[in-house]
Amino acid sequence: MNNTKYVFVTGGVTSSLGKGIIAASLAKLLQERGYSVTIQKLDPYINIDPGTLNPYEHGECYVTDDGAETDLDLGHYERFLNIPTSQANNVTTGRIYQSVIDKERKGEFLGKTVQVIPHITDEIKHRIKILGNTGNYDIVITEIGGTVGDIESLPYIEAVRQLQWELGEDNAIVIHLTLVPYLAAAGELKTKPTQHSVKLLMQSGIGPDILVCRSEHEISQDIKRKLALFCNVKKQDVIQSLDAETIYDVPNLMFAEGLDRVVLEKLNLSTDKQPELVEWNCFVKKYKNPKHTIEIGLIGKYVELHDSYKSITEAFIHAGSTHETKVNVRWIHSEELETKNINEQLKDLDGVLVAPGFGERGIEGKIEAVKYARENNIPFLGICLGMQMAVIEFARNVLQLSDANSTEMNEDTSSPVINLMEEQKDITNMGGTMRLGAWDCQLTEGSKAFDAYKTTDISERHRHRYEFNSEFKAQIEAAGMKATGINPKTGLVEVVEIPSHPWFVGVQYHPEYKSTVLNPHPLFLSFITAAIEYSKQ
Ligand code: GLN
Repeated sequence: MNNTKYVFVTGGVTSSLGKGIIAASLAKLLQERGYSVTIQKLDPYINIDPGTLNPYEHGECYVTDDGAETDLDLGHYERFLNIPTSQANNVTTGRIYQSVIDKERKGEFLGKTVQVIPHITDEIKHRIKILGNTGNYDIVITEIGGTVGDIESLPYIEAVRQLQWELGEDNAIVIHLTLVPYLAAAGELKTKPTQHSVKLLMQSGIGPDILVCRSEHEISQDIKRKLALFCNVKKQDVIQSLDAETIYDVPNLMFAEGLDRVVLEKLNLSTDKQPELVEWNCFVKKYKNPKHTIEIGLIGKYVELHDSYKSITEAFIHAGSTHETKVNVRWIHSEELETKNINEQLKDLDGVLVAPGFGERGIEGKIEAVKYARENNIPFLGICLGMQMAVIEFARNVLQLSDANSTEMNEDTSSPVINLMEEQKDITNMGGTMRLGAWDCQLTEGSKAFDAYKTTDISERHRHRYEFNSEFKAQIEAAGMKATGINPKTGLVEVVEIPSHPWFVGVQYHPEYKSTVLNPHPLFLSFITAAIEYSKQ
């Protein structure tokens, strides 16, 4: 019998209030107090996972070690807590319904009518309890996606109500995150939207235990009292969450407001050990007081929505802080590189990062950006599609294979330097069928990658279908681009470099997923070092 405690985080009034950051910040504080904590995200959409979603919909798809394609909030959880998450940390309505329907087809419901209550809610409760039942966690924080009142969130809210009833008040609590807007014309903060949102929650049988109120302005004691009275919570359980300069300030802000303390008190857990956040605050201090500034061009086709590259920009922040360097990102649309002056757009950059992506749109612009970085000796990092574009550029412009391409973009190319693996060729189902999750890679001693990682044996996360075509390896290596990272089991090329260039590295995997506040990624550290050196020239 384990005694895992559960904290549910719901959202009210509007979306985008930062439930993920509040959940991650609370988890960080509890972790610092010595508790083992994990965070789970329940997403009310019907996709099985976000793997098939366009990044414009919900931003980046985050990939875990076990190969789950998940919501980008899981990236925040890993970056804050420095522990890996897995498929169990992200559940969607699609996944819930799929397993209930699979069971129905197998006859497992023994002739019963299958209904939202109890069958769907039971499946939701099961998914929540899976993490607690591992016995690995003192506390599981479950973030319910969407906003209270949404039709699609109803089964989740009902599951939370049932769980609270089953487990008892001091084993399961609900934090409701709301907005307290400021009306400039009235010169006032308004509590009514929060009152309405709590009323909606109460109609579903849940009285929130704690209110976290997002606000642009200080919430006075009077307003806290009013919120407490009308929302039926104690005044000390009304926590203000002011807009922060950086998400990395939020754990400290929540500690100052006492969020972690009231959570522990409600769960009947000890508050004796205080969170210290020593390493965390050292990171924040360096991040806020940089000694250098560099500018990296991020070339992608989803740059209008910066969340599409969340883990990459966060990895820049982690590595930049270590080097006491502010990394400014110049967002460059790969399609615009095809039509507008490239020298103008890439001028004065200290580094070029060609981003991951799928499909044909914008790839010629990416190839041009690689060429510019290669020819001008600008530090270059190509990630996944970015690495594939580096290989294509090299084949076209150095090996003079003018038609070189990936078969993803041109099936009939005479030089398919990037192509599909044999086992991918018969796949027709798009969801969850790429090469996903953690794979081993062996680095060549003396390579840039080896210098960065300081070891030959690494494991990194993947999300792609296409691969470096080994038939071209000898030819490409002879011309000066080396394969310096190889999958020891399959022989697949995972890293390419140009040793005659100051810093030119392409990786088939996604290093950005493994960068955390306490463990900035070695490849990003090394890339930023090269960019700082370049900026001094
Ligand atoms: N589209 C490429 C592939 O499937 C690259 C994917 C990516 O950049 N994540 O192999």
